[in-house]
Amino acid sequence: MAQRTFSIIKPDAVRKGYTGAILAEIEKAGFKLAAIKKQAISNDQAKGFYHVHAERPFFKDLCTFMSTGPLFLMVLEKENAIADLRKLMGATNPANAEEGTIRKKFAGSIQENAIHGSDAEDTAAFEIGYWFAGYELI
Ligand code: ATP
Ligand code: MG
Repeated sequence: MAQRTFSIIKPDAVRKGYTGAILAEIEKAGFKLAAIKKQAISNDQAKGFYHVHAERPFFKDLCTFMSTGPLFLMVLEKENAIADLRKLMGATNPANAEEGTIRKKFAGSIQENAIHGSDAEDTAAFEIGYWFAGYELI
């Protein structure tokens, strides 16, 4: 059965003009775009989204970075979507990302790493509900 995951094309990748190329990788890997919208998010919205990282040393910088410019919020659908997107994204630090992954191709640094993907079913459910209303997901 198809599973949904939540993803973001982060502000660094949008700024560099990689949105189309990243979407092409995602579709080529068999994901359906259930929903997508461009949005500039506030620092407070970023803090709420990344609340699990609130105690981490990189939290403040990460939330600032996420509100530096528009990003694309997406819901992606596919069998095994959560794990398969994580694999397609590659490691958090692009220096450690496998050849052919989105972060290897498009990420600039461990912070400005082009894409987000939910890491489990419960976080995917929280993240989809955080950014999308039910009527946007039909
Ligand atoms: P994401 O949650 O965005 O999909 P991830 O699950 O690979 O990425 P997390 O550990 O959840 O990585 O960290 C969330 C985000 O915080 C990372 O994607 C990156 O932008 C930033 N980040 C993580 N570790 C560091 C670090 N050591 N220094 C700076 N930024 C970091
Ligand atoms: Mg994460």
